[in-house]
Amino acid sequence: MLVRELKQGRSLFVRLDHGADVVNQISELAVDEGIHSGAFSVLGSLTQAKIAFYDQESHEYKEIAVKETAELVSCTGNVSIREGRPFVHAHVVLADSCGKTRGGHLVHGKIFAAELFLIELLGEPMVREIDQRTGLYLWSG
Ligand code: ZN
Repeated sequence: MLVRELKQGRSLFVRLDHGADVVNQISELAVDEGIHSGAFSVLGSLTQAKIAFYDQESHEYKEIAVKETAELVSCTGNVSIREGRPFVHAHVVLADSCGKTRGGHLVHGKIFAAELFLIELLGEPMVREIDQRTGLYLWSG
């Protein structure tokens, strides 16, 4: 187990831009605000999305295209450092017009409307490096 204690910094309420991508918007915000560590949640509505399921055997993401509009029921994630810059990792639960949900790792999500709550964390940031056992970029210190 790798544990890092960080102090809470700013708490930001952000209305994300219509037509933009959820992951890109949070990444740009982190860069612009100099946020190297953080935790966030997002809720709202998307016009389309791409989510993914990580196959633990093949070490590859299986992508799932969500071509219809969806409620962004829940999106949680974090910001840490990968390859020298802030990196956003987010998972989502999306609901269709019948209320049926599906979820996974968020690759892209085109925003209809979305509200972000981002907590900045201060201190030595976690850094992601490739982990050979899982094939994932995990926190390594
Ligand atoms: Zn993920």
